[in-house]
Amino acid sequence: MTTRGRSLAYLTSVDVTEVKELGGARGRALRAGGVESVTDLLLHTPRRYLDRSTVVPLAQAPVDKEVTVIGRVTSISSRRVRKGLVLVNAVVADESGTVAVTWFNQGFRVNQLKDREVALSGKLERFKGRLQMKSPVADVLSGGESLTTGRVVPIHRSVNDVGPTTLRKAVHNALRRSQPVADPVPARIRRHREVVDRAAALQAIHFPENLGEARTARKRLVFDEFFRIELSLALAKRQKAESAVGVAHRGDGSLVGAFVGALGFPLTDAQRRVIGEITEDMASTHPMHRLLQGEVGSGKTVVAVAALLVAVEAGHQGAVMAPTEVLATQHFLGITDLLEGAGLAPAQSDGSGTGSLFEAGTEGPTVSVALLTGSQALCTAAPGADRTELVSMIADGRVDIVVGTHALIQEGVAFSALSTAVVDEQHRFGVGQRVALKEQAGAIEPDQLIMTATPIPRTLSMTLYGDLDVSLLDEMPPGRTPTTTEAVTPTDLDPVWDRVRSEAVAGRQVFVVCPLVEESSKVEAASATEWHDRLSGLFPDLAVGLLHGQLKPEEKAEAMEQMRSGSVDLLVATTVIEVGIDIPNATMMVILDADRFGLSQLHQLRGRVGRGAHPGHCVLVADPTTEDGEARIEAMVATTDGFRLAERDLEIRGQGSVFGDRQSGRGDLRLGDILRDTDLLVGAREDAFALVDVDPQLAEHPELAEELTAFFPDAEVVEYLFKS
Ligand code: ADP
Ligand code: MG
Repeated sequence: MTTRGRSLAYLTSVDVTEVKELGGARGRALRAGGVESVTDLLLHTPRRYLDRSTVVPLAQAPVDKEVTVIGRVTSISSRRVRKGLVLVNAVVADESGTVAVTWFNQGFRVNQLKDREVALSGKLERFKGRLQMKSPVADVLSGGESLTTGRVVPIHRSVNDVGPTTLRKAVHNALRRSQPVADPVPARIRRHREVVDRAAALQAIHFPENLGEARTARKRLVFDEFFRIELSLALAKRQKAESAVGVAHRGDGSLVGAFVGALGFPLTDAQRRVIGEITEDMASTHPMHRLLQGEVGSGKTVVAVAALLVAVEAGHQGAVMAPTEVLATQHFLGITDLLEGAGLAPAQSDGSGTGSLFEAGTEGPTVSVALLTGSQALCTAAPGADRTELVSMIADGRVDIVVGTHALIQEGVAFSALSTAVVDEQHRFGVGQRVALKEQAGAIEPDQLIMTATPIPRTLSMTLYGDLDVSLLDEMPPGRTPTTTEAVTPTDLDPVWDRVRSEAVAGRQVFVVCPLVEESSKVEAASATEWHDRLSGLFPDLAVGLLHGQLKPEEKAEAMEQMRSGSVDLLVATTVIEVGIDIPNATMMVILDADRFGLSQLHQLRGRVGRGAHPGHCVLVADPTTEDGEARIEAMVATTDGFRLAERDLEIRGQGSVFGDRQSGRGDLRLGDILRDTDLLVGAREDAFALVDVDPQLAEHPELAEELTAFFPDAEVVEYLFKS
């Protein structure tokens, strides 16, 4: 083999079935489980290690503690206790004693364990003088096999019934044939980050002499995962900067100036700075790819509107893309509100968007905004227009700003001169993805401002948004008092309702948010209606409104308008109010079954109160039945800092839930943990960006380029790397 032949990049082309042990059915089973090549096998690292030196004889094992014992299965049987419940009983013996073991519905065949040597890890208990273990983790150790005579035994995660023993042998063979695996990471970087070379790391992660060695090996492999991702991001960023041509927006600033000047408040320093960053980006011919991050209520909408107006001022159109129809509607309301306030859009007389909107005699420039979703089509400049008309108005440039869902704008609408897209993204996953708006605008690529509704932790934005420039709104508009938060149990609601009444009597308004019913907005609506009836009964003297997802658009608009105008005191609502609702007079929010909501959702909801002169108060009604639910409630009571909550959320949920299903590709994080390994992530990012700075196409580092191609076969950066 040549040195190149031993690179992980090359070994992705060697089929796993070529490894001794893995010809035939086993290899096919591995392939089906995503372990397709020798590289995949080498990176299928042990999920844990058995340290034989710490294994205790049964007679000396401490009771009521987690222990690992090794013994032989002397008897084993299974029976069906009742429908759907299979009980396995076994006796495991070592030289010092025996332990009775039970498993429920374990799924393994009794024959697989009979007479085998196993390692059991779990809690040892004593019952009527006998030792027992309930549902311990069991790993079969093949007797007589030389690989397990070492002190530390690797336990690889089974793949489609191919168990640890087979995997251990297969990895051993694969390593013997491919070592020394080449190391594409420059020695300078390895020294600086104090990581071992790749060949040593691969050896030691699978067959460490001791657990310290395994840790050192892990560090190197984690670095590699981060380094590959950050390298791709650095290249993607570079590629965007070099390849595409965007619109150089060179307006005279008059429209943005008029907008800012007519707002009822001065911009915060942060808003001023960020609008400056965006305007500068937009004035250049490079397409903008910028992430706008900021706390709930920090005034992101104002910034987004300023960006859209830069486009309009230069004679172009802007688009706002939201993940859902509800969010699109709310963005539309938020944007038209601000434009109205600044005298740049005709005032909406009835708030429904369908009545007579256009008031003759409006002076100065006006900006027309359209909302286009699956169920709605409206435009501030043409109240009577139907969908077909609206679409043609967008196509011939009579509409300046279009708000819609991602799908609609990406695939459906033709613009006459789209130059700027504000993209509201809940999450975005993976490297090399971006919004494909190119065709829309012809040869030019629109400027993009990506917004997230809630802050995301720095470590996450480094991995998910690492190819974007970041603008941070790290300052709240003045005069806000942080909203106070308390948690109460459902049996303790009387004082809460008393407080609701006194807020209303003082002329302020209250939201009551109804339980989340996932996947059934019908049931959710029914529960909201029930609560509405109940609270109407409880507060006969107050005006109680109702808002849920099953209402017709005009009914929703009416409910919102009642809240805006102050004609209802209390609004019973589902999470449709989550984002964008801005009622400065609302001071209190009661969230029912609060433990069922996610943290960022709770944070968004809470952000709807305390937006005016009076401090807000949030009541979380919950009787948490899960640990996570309890942790979320605790976090909400403890802080109002969105960045802190976002971090806490990541801690509670784990990164797996954030990266979701994408966590299966060869280039994704497997060992690396962005919370635990933050230092390595930050270091890898620094190194990757520095390297791309001096070697933008990896011409000096062909082995790295090859590795990226092998690990991210679908990414756009790959095309970029090899286009020249
Ligand atoms: P975000 O989208 O960041 O959660 P919004 O853009 O909805 O926040 O703004 C929250 C509220 O603050 C709105 O009522 C908005 O009009 C107001 N606001 C925005 N910027 C300022 C400012 N500089 N001074 C005072 N109020 C502001
Ligand atoms: Mg907003």
